[in-house]
Amino acid sequence: STSMASEKEAALAATPSDSDSPTIFDKIINKEIPSTVVYEDDKVLAFRDISPQAPVHILIIPKVRDGLTGISKAEERHFEILGRLLYTAKLVAKQEGLDDGYRVVINDGPKGCQSVYHIHVHLLGGRQMNWPPG
Ligand code: 5GP
Repeated sequence: STSMASEKEAALAATPSDSDSPTIFDKIINKEIPSTVVYEDDKVLAFRDISPQAPVHILIIPKVRDGLTGISKAEERHFEILGRLLYTAKLVAKQEGLDDGYRVVINDGPKGCQSVYHIHVHLLGGRQMNWPPG
């Protein structure tokens, strides 16, 4: 679809940033740009994706990136936040009523179609998902 093509274009155009370069997600965390927040605690923020690929499409991010631009940059110090991100996906899936199943995705790097270099877990649901993914 056009939407998928533009997602891929955005991913291929994105520059994998170093750990000092801010991303659009910093502005979402700081509430400088609006988002629809569905869950928030001291460590993580979950908000609706601006370009939803399913009836439910939520992004779950750490409030502090700490070098975690993507899953490929994970270190042992990130064990706790990585667990929290996945556990939050479960909490939000329950909150959204996705009782018959859902998908959790982390895109990494240009070939993984990552476009924002602040790690994020996609929670997708509300329709039948397909496999293999595109
Ligand atoms: P990625 O392609 O890096 O795995 O996922 C980045 C996601 O962030 C995309 O699904 C994109 O739609 C979403 N996104 C990009 N900018 C914004 C924004 O300003 N607000 C919201 N809510 N989502 C955004």
